[in-house]
Amino acid sequence: MSADPRGAEGFRLGNEILAFRFVATLSDRRGDPVERIPTPERLGAWLAANGLGEAGPPVSEALLRDARELREAIHRAGTAVAGGGVPDPTDEELLNRWSARHRARLVLDGGRARWRLPETDPARAALAVVALDAIATLGGQGDGVIKRCEQATCGGLFVDTSRGGRRRWCSMATCGNKMKKANLRSARARSGETPAHRGGHA
Ligand SMILES: [Zn+2]
Repeated sequence: MSADPRGAEGFRLGNEILAFRFVATLSDRRGDPVERIPTPERLGAWLAANGLGEAGPPVSEALLRDARELREAIHRAGTAVAGGGVPDPTDEELLNRWSARHRARLVLDGGRARWRLPETDPARAALAVVALDAIATLGGQGDGVIKRCEQATCGGLFVDTSRGGRRRWCSMATCGNKMKKANLRSARARSGETPAHRGGHA
């Protein structure tokens, strides 16, 4: 019930980590970046689609700017951790400032955990939840668990909890499928080039 299918259109919600879904609101980071929260309304829709505010909390232009700043700090910090390093202190500080503003309540509702936002400035409180998730994720995993997506143009992040640490993509629904299709295309191209010599070998 947390997703609003209308508002969710165009968002990349296939990553199970809230903070990394937020990073994916700027997609194709290493190719032709696509801004998926171009307006305050779209940020509100993204929050609603992620269980943060039922109808999309009101967002100002200033908050949209702050949100993007938070997003890029999460991306930089996550990329640093994925590379075996530690986040830049200024990014840590920014995340910590956001988490200090945390005012949402986690409630049990019909057997499901939900975020209940305060009445004043709910969108800012919702973003504090995203920052909290980023801190818990980036600082709460073992070595090598935070990874960068291997799809060439993505630049997204994910938590690899697969057996043997073999996951390669931020989301199977987007990058995983893209890679599968690309592999299939190149396999077909190869077999098309030299049909006589490739029989029997996949
Ligand atoms: Zn990806």
